Amino acid sequence: MAGPVYTYCPRCATALEMQMMSDRARPTCPACGFIQFHDPKVAVIGLVTCGEHVLLTKRAVNPEIGKWSLPGGFMDAGEMPTAALQRELMEEIGLPVVVNELIEVLPMLVADAAAPDGQVNRGIVLAYAATPRSGTREQLQAHDDVQDVRWFTAETIPPELAFESTQKLIALWREQ
Ligand SMILES: [Zn+2]
Repeated sequence: MAGPVYTYCPRCATALEMQMMSDRARPTCPACGFIQFHDPKVAVIGLVTCGEHVLLTKRAVNPEIGKWSLPGGFMDAGEMPTAALQRELMEEIGLPVVVNELIEVLPMLVADAAAPDGQVNRGIVLAYAATPRSGTREQLQAHDDVQDVRWFTAETIPPELAFESTQKLIALWREQ
């Protein structure tokens, strides 16, 4: 489940009641009919490559603080995924990129000690291939949620990577 469950109706402040709809119980307002739907979070990440190198960012925030991951972030409402990825890469690492093909659609698995298998799926992750715009590959600056950003070769990638999405995509990249 993504996000908080409301106790009171955000429209009329009546206490919400759980009502079965199709196969799910949803918080529903008995006064005005408001129903709380849980929309998935959507994130975009980039497998940014340049020749023999792949770009990784060291996380400055939790979850997985201090570990290396592919760069990216959450989409804003009204944004398209490729524009969201270009915006995130400019904000986090100052790198203008060309976004290429969609590589994978992955679950957004986040560690949660309360979950039966130790993690919950908070949404979906769209993973795109990308390349730096011509002449910009050394323009790397760490901002926002990032404390460091570097190019790695298959031999120099850190052993402990954040998130299954990053681990899976780096494994795919190494096979090529
Ligand atoms: Zn209401």
